[in-house]
Amino acid sequence: MARLRFTDMKRPSDGGVCFCCLRRDEGAGFPVPNRHNRIIWSCNDHIPLGRKAAAMPQAEFDIYEKQALEAAGNKAGQRLDDKFGKTDLAELETWEYLDFCQTLVKAFGDELASRLQSYDPPF
Ligand SMILES: [Zn+2]
Repeated sequence: MARLRFTDMKRPSDGGVCFCCLRRDEGAGFPVPNRHNRIIWSCNDHIPLGRKAAAMPQAEFDIYEKQALEAAGNKAGQRLDDKFGKTDLAELETWEYLDFCQTLVKAFGDELASRLQSYDPPF
């Protein structure tokens, strides 16, 4: 089997998500050290972060991911309260629920990317 290059391009039709923000990746991939053939993908905005995330120990990434999820949940919940005056998901109209979901996903990506940006190990 051919060895993967440091940055490998895939076909745009493959689709995928950026490991750092969950938005559509742009085909930039990074191999994960010590994980045979494991590649993480990145959007154009997060190519440096993709490289960092690939080199990051899984346990540390998991902590950042959990922190980002909690912060995103808080942002999405606060938006529900501020914009619709509601905090109970069962009371939301469909469009309000979609707004909540969109806020949650975007906030998670922003929060995770922000945390990865601050990661500064002695590589
Ligand atoms: Zn990204």
